[in-house]
Amino acid sequence: MAAPMPRPPDPLPMAMTMAMTHARAAFASLLQFSVPPVPPFYAMWFEYHAGTRPELASALEAAMAQGAVDEALMRELSVRFLDPLPEFEALGVALTQLSGTLKEALGTMASHGADSAAFSDALEELSSDARQDPQQLRLTLVRLAEQARLMTRRSREMGYRIAHSSQQIEALRTELEDARHDAETDALTGLGNRRVFDDRLRRLVREAEAEGLPVALILIDIDHFKLVNDRFGHPVGDALLRRTASTLTASLGDRGRVARFGGEEFAIALSRVNRAEAVELAGSLRQAVAAQSFALRTSGTRLGDVTVSIGLAMLRSGEDEASLVERADAALYRAKQEGRNRCCTDEKATAPKPARVWS
Ligand code: GH3
Ligand code: MG
Ligand code: MG
Repeated sequence: MAAPMPRPPDPLPMAMTMAMTHARAAFASLLQFSVPPVPPFYAMWFEYHAGTRPELASALEAAMAQGAVDEALMRELSVRFLDPLPEFEALGVALTQLSGTLKEALGTMASHGADSAAFSDALEELSSDARQDPQQLRLTLVRLAEQARLMTRRSREMGYRIAHSSQQIEALRTELEDARHDAETDALTGLGNRRVFDDRLRRLVREAEAEGLPVALILIDIDHFKLVNDRFGHPVGDALLRRTASTLTASLGDRGRVARFGGEEFAIALSRVNRAEAVELAGSLRQAVAAQSFALRTSGTRLGDVTVSIGLAMLRSGEDEASLVERADAALYRAKQEGRNRCCTDEKATAPKPARVWS
């Protein structure tokens, strides 16, 4: 009988072939833009080539069009688009362990119940027949003493376990709180990050639509910020970002929350604020920044006038948050074009001011 023909190897399943194509394209993009091939950056380029995340793709395409793809941008996008955070996964594992410990403690409690039952059986025996023979009485008493010892030991064990479990719960709660804070906070300024802002804006738009409330979006961009970095160095640029963040936060007060929107851009989304109120608020934020003075700690050199340009848009009926952001950004662009250090709205320019630029 002829030997069976060896079967040709199975062609790679389609999904695998596609995945390898996306993987190669992802590596090519990492090389093209000279960004380190670390897993989050790789993951984003993979998703880009696979076409699975339209929002991520448009952010990358916008950055590519501006020649702005670099490591800082990739880091910013990973905060916006990648989840879940590894800290949360680790906490998930820890919580599973904790629930195991609690189950054990509950098991101990159950066996404690069984001990008490045995103890009361022995007591019952003792009282039901007071005229037992001395030998029987002695045995019952021994059993009773043993049960009592067992119960004491188990109670102590249970106490330790419960105390240990509640310490673990407390530690995990703190860790969870810290991880949540880290996930929502911009590390440099301490403001809410872009991810939190996007969520908040989405929620505001949804609620406003349902209740017919006004929503105002204010985008704030530091003027000629690149010059600060170029002249005084990145750490001074960072310090200016922190200072501007706290000036804006103080000026806004309890009317809302300032978020870090991007590099040197901040955003504020407000509901129940009409156009006139929003325009006034934007003007006061602009003035607060213009009034701040900023000097180098070491030499005392003043940095010059730090100003911001502001774009303001009011949500239109039936509009989604992406379009609102686009219109506020267009207003901000106009404020830059018209000379900076001013606010422009989606309707018209407001409070024009002579530009005081870095020279
Ligand atoms: P414009 O008035 O048109 O806004 O000019 P600009 O210089 O402020 O804007 P541009 O977009 O040209 O430059 C922004 C710079 O902000 C470039 C980038 O390196 C810098 N930047 C972004 N994030 C940070 C950061 O976290 N720290 C520091 N120091 N610089 C940053
Ligand atoms: Mg900018
Ligand atoms: Mg700027």
